[in-house]
Amino acid sequence: MKDVKKLLLPMTAMAAAFCGSAGAQTAAHEVQAREIYSRLIAFRTAAGHQQTPAMVAYLIEVLKTGGVPESDIATLDEAGETALIVRVPGRKPGRPILFSAHMDVVDARPEEWERDPFKLLEEKGDFYGRGTSDNKAGVTALVATILRFNAARLKPSRDLVFAFVGDEETSMNTTRRIASHPWVKEAEFAINTDAGGGVLDDTTGKPLIYLVQGAEKTYATFDLIVTNPGGHSSRPRADNAIYQLAHALDKVEAHWFPVMATDLTRAYLGAVGKAQSGPVGEALRKFSADPNDAGAADVLAKSPEFVGTTRTTCVATMLEAGHAENALPQTAKAAINCRIFPGVAVESVRDALTAAIADPEVKIVVRGSPEASPISAMRPDVMSAITKAVHAHYPGVTVVPYLESGGTDGKVYRIAGIPTFASSGLFTKPSEMFAHGLNERLPVTAFYQGLDHIYRLAVDLGGARPGR
Ligand SMILES: [Zn+2]
Repeated sequence: MKDVKKLLLPMTAMAAAFCGSAGAQTAAHEVQAREIYSRLIAFRTAAGHQQTPAMVAYLIEVLKTGGVPESDIATLDEAGETALIVRVPGRKPGRPILFSAHMDVVDARPEEWERDPFKLLEEKGDFYGRGTSDNKAGVTALVATILRFNAARLKPSRDLVFAFVGDEETSMNTTRRIASHPWVKEAEFAINTDAGGGVLDDTTGKPLIYLVQGAEKTYATFDLIVTNPGGHSSRPRADNAIYQLAHALDKVEAHWFPVMATDLTRAYLGAVGKAQSGPVGEALRKFSADPNDAGAADVLAKSPEFVGTTRTTCVATMLEAGHAENALPQTAKAAINCRIFPGVAVESVRDALTAAIADPEVKIVVRGSPEASPISAMRPDVMSAITKAVHAHYPGVTVVPYLESGGTDGKVYRIAGIPTFASSGLFTKPSEMFAHGLNERLPVTAFYQGLDHIYRLAVDLGGARPGR
């Protein structure tokens, strides 16, 4: 609370006190946003650490101090997880626009990091810390936008609703609750800060393209399970659960799912191809023109960056077998994680794995209940607002939709009938992708541009103007 008040010191004093290495971020709202960002990184909002409620309490204090009335703040508790929803009321009734970010992070072990993951550190043009990119820059951008609206007495033409999800990295239960909340359920569309962004050339740092996430692959994990009577390891038997599982895994490795394409993926791959030289660039252009070009598809299949946009993928990710070094294994188990192309049924992927493995003794069990989400048809108003916001910092950069091979809770909104477009406004180099990994970081410039991006979208899409 003491620190919250400190935020509201006369901003010129704060700005003078602030001396960031990037130099240019001295606007009062940017100073305040950096302070909020720094406080948010310090909360270890990973599953099992129960720090999200404290972070929500902090955010509520910041919002109230910034003039947001209690009646426009709602919290949700779902199975031990907490979420926050904030409303900026519009001048007129109308379907709201939703902005979303998630507060939780994948855990980080301080002993494995070079720096303390739960302390924001600015070093040589980067912000370091768990959540700097995924997704606390987004959380900060939403809070900063609400505060700027309040400070400038900006009023949108219709309600803007800002959702802070508590469990995106795990169950997404709070996202489901948010999607059905009375402030949210009628939303015309959503902007998700958790994906979408600009790509900078790894060597030159020049902007190559800006991507808006318009669809996600279905996330499904299958367990391959082999059981065996086992026995003493001094008396090996002909069948062995570990060998049998290993043979099944060989088959999974060799199996390729059929090549697929939609208007969205062709537009994406074509635009990326235009900006890329070499054999991969050529394959991208050819595949975009003709998805039946087998040669081009083969080149893309070898590219970790593009294989997921051209087909369903399944890959072994975990292994567990045996119970003692001197006993024959009674169980051997492997997790196969699949990213399924939109429109393909989970059941058919399981059938394809069954056929490829061709061993009825290998049981294939799907984990949980995977959810397939629809493609969000691109809206010209949304694409135009995003393009304008992107061009404010990177004039002329191509803006295209893309299919997410990873996963976000955007799918939950899409399943609930809210078309969702992920656009973080963050430009990064592919080599700087450290989300979920060690030493997560975000370029300082990207952080401030991300703030500006979300603010511009809220003003533009929300038809905001001064007024009460
Ligand atoms: Zn995320």
